[in-house]
Amino acid sequence: MPIAALIRRARDLDEANPLRHLRDRFRLPDGVVYLDGNSLGAMPVKARDIALDVIERQWGQDLIGSWNDNGWWEAPTRVGDRIGELVGAAPGQVVVTDSTSVNLFKVLMAASAMMPSRTVVLTDQGSFPTDLYMADAAASLGDMVVVTMPPPEMVEYLRDSGDDVVIAAVSSVDYRTGEAWDLPAITAAAHEAGALVAWDLCHSGGAMDIQLDAHRVDMAVGCTYKYLNGGPGSPAFLYVAERHQDRFNQPLTGWQGHRDPFAMSPRYEPDPGIARGRVGTPPLLSLLTMEAGLDTFDGVTMAQVREVSLSLTGLFMEALDQLVPQVEIATPRSENQRGSQVSLRHPEAFGVVSALIERGFVGDFREPDIVRLGFAAPYLSHEQVIDAAVALQQILAANHHLDPRFVKSKVT
Ligand SMILES: *Cc1c(COP(=O)(O)O)cnc(C)c1O
Repeated sequence: MPIAALIRRARDLDEANPLRHLRDRFRLPDGVVYLDGNSLGAMPVKARDIALDVIERQWGQDLIGSWNDNGWWEAPTRVGDRIGELVGAAPGQVVVTDSTSVNLFKVLMAASAMMPSRTVVLTDQGSFPTDLYMADAAASLGDMVVVTMPPPEMVEYLRDSGDDVVIAAVSSVDYRTGEAWDLPAITAAAHEAGALVAWDLCHSGGAMDIQLDAHRVDMAVGCTYKYLNGGPGSPAFLYVAERHQDRFNQPLTGWQGHRDPFAMSPRYEPDPGIARGRVGTPPLLSLLTMEAGLDTFDGVTMAQVREVSLSLTGLFMEALDQLVPQVEIATPRSENQRGSQVSLRHPEAFGVVSALIERGFVGDFREPDIVRLGFAAPYLSHEQVIDAAVALQQILAANHHLDPRFVKSKVT
C-alpha cells in the first residue's frame, strides 16, 4: 500500500474512532506526538483545576477540616473504587496508597504469611527491576526462595511443581517488548496448584481490559501515572480480592491501616477491609489530582480503549513493514499477545529515540537496544501513527540517528 493509501486508511479509522472526543480532555504541547504515555501519561486539562482547588480551597481555606469536609480521609478507598471500575474490580477491593514497589512488597509478605508451609515466589526474570528487587527482599525476610522463568513456562511449572509455590507474581505486560502475558491461564494454573497470583498492572491499567474479579485474581498492584494519566508521582494502587482481605496481614502496619485510627490505641489492629493496605498519611495533592486522569475515561469502556489501542499499534506495525522493513519489531503481532506499545530493536536505539524526540515524536529508550513507543488510545490518532512511521523512515534514511550529539541523560 503506498503511503497515500495508508494515510487515507488512518483518516477513515480516525473518523470511526469511538474515543476521538477524548483527545480534548488532554493538554498536549503543539507539535508533539506523545508516544510515552506508558511512562508518564499526558496531562488532563482538568488536572490544573483540581490541583488549584486542592491548594487554594481545600488546603488554603478549609485547612484541617478537609479531612472530614472534603473527604480526605476516605480518598484512598473512594479513588480506589474508581480505579477498580477500570480494572474489573467491584468496590471495596482497591486502595490507592504508596508506590507500586511498596505495594508489591506488602503483597508478597502477606502471601508468605498466608501460606507458611510453602516457599516459592514464582516470577519473571524480565520483570521491571523493582519487582525483582522486592521479590528478593520479601523472600529473604519471609524465608522463601525466588524462582524465575518466562511467564508462559509458569503454567507447566505450576502443574508439575506448584505444590510449593506461595505466589506467582507477574507483570501483565513485559515493559521492554510490550508482550502481554496470559493472565487467565497463569491465574488458573496458580489456583490449580493451590497457589496465589499477583499481577502488576503498571503497563495495562488504563490500556487493556483487565478483569480482575472475573478471573478470580488474588492480588494486584499498579501505578497510576502511566496509562491512567494520574500525574508525576501519583500514588499507586493495591487490589486484594475480598475473599482474602481478612487474612491479608501486610507487614507495614501504619496507623492509617488501623481499624480505628483515632482511638489512638497502642496496639495495631488492622481494618477489616481493603483499608488495611494503607500505611501512613497519603500524598493528597497528587492523590486528588489523579482523579482528573480517571475522569478522562468517563463515558467509555475499557473494551473500547483496548480496541482502539490494538488498532493504533496494529496500524503502526503495518506502516513499519512497508516503510522500514529492515527494522526488527520486538512486539508480538498477535493481538492477544501485545499490550499497548510497540518496541523496536535497533543497535543505535538511543540515537533513534533521540532523533524521533527532536522531530516531536516522544518515545523512550530501554536497555540494551529497545526503542519503546507507547500508544495511549485516549489521545492519539491513527494519522499520528502514520506520521511517526514516516518520521522513523526519514531518520534512518538520513542517518540522523547516528548524530554524535545524542548522548544519554540520567533519565531515559
Ligand atoms: C513503572 C513500573 C513500576 C514503578 O514502580 P514505582 O514503585 O511506582 O516507581 C513498577 N513495576 C512495573 C512493572 C512498572 O512498569
